[in-house]
Amino acid sequence: MTYGENEYLLLSGIQHFSFCRRQWALIHIENQWKENALTAEGKVVHERVHDKTQTESRGDELTVRGMPIKSESMGVSGECDAVVFTRSDDGIVLHGRKGKWSVLPVEYKHGKTKISDCDRLQATAQAMCLEEMYCCRVDRAALFYFETRSREYVAVTEELRETVKRSFSEMHALFDRGYTPKVKPSDKCRRCSLCDLCLPSLMKKGETATDYILEHLEDEP
Ligand code: SF4
Repeated sequence: MTYGENEYLLLSGIQHFSFCRRQWALIHIENQWKENALTAEGKVVHERVHDKTQTESRGDELTVRGMPIKSESMGVSGECDAVVFTRSDDGIVLHGRKGKWSVLPVEYKHGKTKISDCDRLQATAQAMCLEEMYCCRVDRAALFYFETRSREYVAVTEELRETVKRSFSEMHALFDRGYTPKVKPSDKCRRCSLCDLCLPSLMKKGETATDYILEHLEDEP
């Protein structure tokens, strides 16, 4: 199965989806967004990264910044902060360049490495898009964390690939239904920029947003 371009979802949404399905739906289905300190820092990092030359060539490396990527099979599109092409005998052919090149997507993050796989899933999804675009295999992706100034290499495993495919498939199903799932409030809610919009304390009581609105409408004089 392939998706048409008008059905594409934003690839970067997978990190929201992995953090909390409801957060993803609030942002990507209901178009709700609210900055907090963490999201604002992330935005600054990406502006800094994309404010650079599009292509840099150094020795055996060619770095392309802000590269558009997509996957017809997963129905997603987005942008790689950087893709590093390195000369390699078993690499791919690049239009207008001599020789063969290996492919490494690099995603920049403001914080530090996390226990959860949300960043690794985004990096894996980028690698899978590049595989589809260049008809090649990308077994590794990288995450660069500004807080620790460190690069983490992500092995693009079958397990991560399956989670990426399953997540995008669920995201498409929710998006098509226009449905924002309810989830159990957790510790994550304290770090969530949408906490006020999501009303997790109401969900805890089993009360829906509609119940809340009706109740408060009735309170009106
Ligand atoms: S407040 Fe909690 S349940 Fe609501 S979107 Fe954020 S993380 Fe998810």
